[in-house]
Amino acid sequence: MAKEITSREQDYSQWYNDIVLKSGLADYTAVRGCMVIKPHGFALWEIMRDTLDKMFKDTGHVNAYFPLFIPKSFLSKEAAHVEGFAKECAVVTHYRLMNDPNGGGVVVDPDAKLEEELIVRPTSETIIWSTFKTWIQSYRDLPLLINQWANVVRWEMRTRLFLRTAEFLWQEGHTAHATADEAIAETRQMLDIYANFAENYMAMPVVRGVKSANERFAGAVDTYCIEALMQDGKALQAGTSHFLGQNFAKAFDVKFSDKENKLEYVWATSWGASTRLIGALVMAHSDDDGLVLPPKVAPLQVVIVPIYKGDEQLAMISEKANVLAKELRAMGISVKYDNSEHARPGWKFAEYEMKGVPVRVAIGARDLEKNLVEVARRDTKEKMTVPVEGLSSYIKDLLDDIQVSIYNKAKKFQQDHITKADSWEEFMAILDGKAGFVSAHWDGTGETEEKIKELSKATIRCIPLDNPQEEGTCILTGNPSTQRVLFARAY
Ligand code: AMP
Repeated sequence: MAKEITSREQDYSQWYNDIVLKSGLADYTAVRGCMVIKPHGFALWEIMRDTLDKMFKDTGHVNAYFPLFIPKSFLSKEAAHVEGFAKECAVVTHYRLMNDPNGGGVVVDPDAKLEEELIVRPTSETIIWSTFKTWIQSYRDLPLLINQWANVVRWEMRTRLFLRTAEFLWQEGHTAHATADEAIAETRQMLDIYANFAENYMAMPVVRGVKSANERFAGAVDTYCIEALMQDGKALQAGTSHFLGQNFAKAFDVKFSDKENKLEYVWATSWGASTRLIGALVMAHSDDDGLVLPPKVAPLQVVIVPIYKGDEQLAMISEKANVLAKELRAMGISVKYDNSEHARPGWKFAEYEMKGVPVRVAIGARDLEKNLVEVARRDTKEKMTVPVEGLSSYIKDLLDDIQVSIYNKAKKFQQDHITKADSWEEFMAILDGKAGFVSAHWDGTGETEEKIKELSKATIRCIPLDNPQEEGTCILTGNPSTQRVLFARAY
């Protein structure tokens, strides 16, 4: 009946894979590191995409589309950028196959070698800034607020469904501004949009912060991020927003004439969030019975299951169920009446639990005589007997309540898992114990950060925004420090 899921307690990482595969979010393919996103996973992505897309458009951004391929010379134009991405680039060298004259099947045609290799985009700053050069001449062309929904390829060595794949879907915003201040304000605005989406739609609390130099995006002046906490106490970067300074404008010679007719390099930002968010959602809320989805991102919010014997009972139940479904749809709630005969109610219950449908309504013939139905919420597994009268508004309120309580539960978990450490022993004890974020002093150097990572496998997740200044000493070197930063082991 129910499909077996490894428990979190037993093996968290296997539990995650089980959930993703068995709830029908995604599957492996013949291509290493690449996944197929199945209909349930894609429906989830469509909701995330549409919600974010609206937020971007409401703040003045427009969508465009740029090529999948980037000439190798473009990628090389910004030194830090190419250095950061070189190790994970897929490269196109030829454009034709041929039959092997020696009978070895189909082989690359050596005569079809590209003059310049093409890189499958790992991110699009270079191709976009080479285009911006032709779009931007004067201050009147600014700001330029572009977003692209696309796939990108990063040849990751250790992959994991949704969290880290070689090809992933994402959006990448690329904006151009007349001043540094304006670009920084844009970077921060987009960070806030990601945080708002994570917290108010995905019900996933996040810490907003800025990355240390070692963890910065290749080519950025500053990288801002939202960091979420998974149920095993590991952190996950859930979105990034970069202030790129004039680095790409200089690399691609993008200048504008200001109001005084002076030529100036343009200021830039870029920001991205990917299908990793689906992995984050799974890891943040789900349980040993399957997915737990916050109603605002659930592809299906309510399922109605009839419990009956014979056609007569089914007809009576269907009449009520169809009225309820219609009322719910009129309230903007997605609902399915599952009267299929091939499966028993118990099987259906387990299946919709696995898929994370937030509310299940079971309508039985005997209850219906008393004008009652059974309503079950997925997050707490609580079951309520509810009168048919006023049922649709009861369900609407219940969905709101589920959204809030999933968030509150995750928020409490996050707060319980931000712990201060004032010595190396304390630091390691927390990481090896309950884990989560460890708030500790660090002397601010890249070398110390590297050493801490080597010794503990924990990285600096971020320096939280509005971090209080506080005198202290580095947990590793004992050198003076002016603020605590958040460390964690991370995905
Ligand atoms: P970046 O361009 O490196 O700042 O990444 C932008 C967004 O994509 C971040 O939110 C990352 O969490 C996400 N991301 C980076 N690499 C991967 C990957 N291999 N698979 C899925 N998402 C990724």
